[in-house]
Amino acid sequence: MKVQTIMADLERKHPGESEYLQAVQEVLESIEEVYNLHPEFEKAKIVERMVEPDRIFTFRVTWVDDRGEIQTNIGYRIQFNSAIGPYKGGIRFHKAVNVSMLKFLGFEQTFKNALTTLPMGGAKGGSDFDPVGKSDAEIMRFCQAFMWELWNNIGPDTDVPAGDVGVGGREIGYMYGMYKKLAREYNTGVLTGKGINWGGSLIRPEATGFGALYFVEHMLAKAGKSIKGATVAISGFGNVAWGAATKATELGATVVAISGPDGVVYNPNGMTQEKLDYMLALRASNRNIVAPFAEKFTDATFIPNKKAWSIKCDIALPCAFQNELNGDDAAELLANGTWCAAEVSNMGCTPEAIATFQKAEILFAPGKAVNAGGVATSGLEMTQNAMHISWSAAEVDSKLHYIMESIHAACVKYGTQPDGYVNYVKGANIAGFMKVAQAMLEQGIV
Ligand code: GLU
Repeated sequence: MKVQTIMADLERKHPGESEYLQAVQEVLESIEEVYNLHPEFEKAKIVERMVEPDRIFTFRVTWVDDRGEIQTNIGYRIQFNSAIGPYKGGIRFHKAVNVSMLKFLGFEQTFKNALTTLPMGGAKGGSDFDPVGKSDAEIMRFCQAFMWELWNNIGPDTDVPAGDVGVGGREIGYMYGMYKKLAREYNTGVLTGKGINWGGSLIRPEATGFGALYFVEHMLAKAGKSIKGATVAISGFGNVAWGAATKATELGATVVAISGPDGVVYNPNGMTQEKLDYMLALRASNRNIVAPFAEKFTDATFIPNKKAWSIKCDIALPCAFQNELNGDDAAELLANGTWCAAEVSNMGCTPEAIATFQKAEILFAPGKAVNAGGVATSGLEMTQNAMHISWSAAEVDSKLHYIMESIHAACVKYGTQPDGYVNYVKGANIAGFMKVAQAMLEQGIV
């Protein structure tokens, strides 16, 4: 396999799909060496097959807004790879959603899900619907219209969507309600991230952020460091940022920054329970601004149009969107003494940022390893649904701990360099790839 040849071919076939091409390139560069040691992969054209989604559904979603006006959005579901289990992955509602974004996310999901140790294939879906400023009734009507098109292509044993940016418990509820009505099937396993009284799992709302911090703890322990007493900068203020801020605080770190599209909140005294609760209220307000946090808590300061990476911190945790931390941000963080960066968002760092961190040999780990606790706990939700039982919070949390520990171990196994530095990007990509590739090989040419 030659990365350049495959990339040139993909660029020709999928011009302008920048996020997708970026995600593929990162994986191919990581696995090239290992791949070329396996002529059976080359013979079965594993890479050429793996980089293309199994299928893409795209559909029109028409709904009526509160003023009685008709709105039309585009909906998508990308079933990327089913080698190790039913399609599994979130749904993103964001105005910038397009095929490239969802293909990158579905591709990443395939390897991430393989890392979780659970039998889940990779998928992603979403819409260019913008939830900002929408009323609850509008959100409901949109979710219903979206599911009206999607329901026939998903199911507990075929494809199990969940939340992502712009889709939380409320949206999953509206989509699940409509699914039941259309499918006349009352199997809760069709979606994950459900409410706790109707098939949801304890710890699922916290799982992405909690799992990320468990992963960071392992990284730090391996490097002889501790999170206790460290300062942490977090981007975003949604569900993932909230989970990360909650666990970081519990582990004795000081969360000195959270951010939004409008700027950053400098929070030198760290989080309190009241502040953490307010993050959820801010998200639920659908305004997508973080400034009110500093109006409510006077020990915090809002700095408009600045990123979280302008705040001095030991540990940087991108928790919002892809490519939210670029090469300049990475250089600024390093200059301010940051010694660990972990992507909690999917592909949160640009290739330049990753190269900057790795060149400085600081601790750095990619989203598909760090944030896998979210989808892993979705997998645990599916198990509970299939068994018609619910586990205690402690039981789910201990399973999440175990999963994050094994993901960390897999990264170390495949990513340790001769000088002892762990290249977590390489480790995660090779570990995920090997599992999916072996499964594809064993299942023949399909
Ligand atoms: N959207 C999350 C992710 O990127 C969760 C997906 C899921 O739970 O299926 O992994």
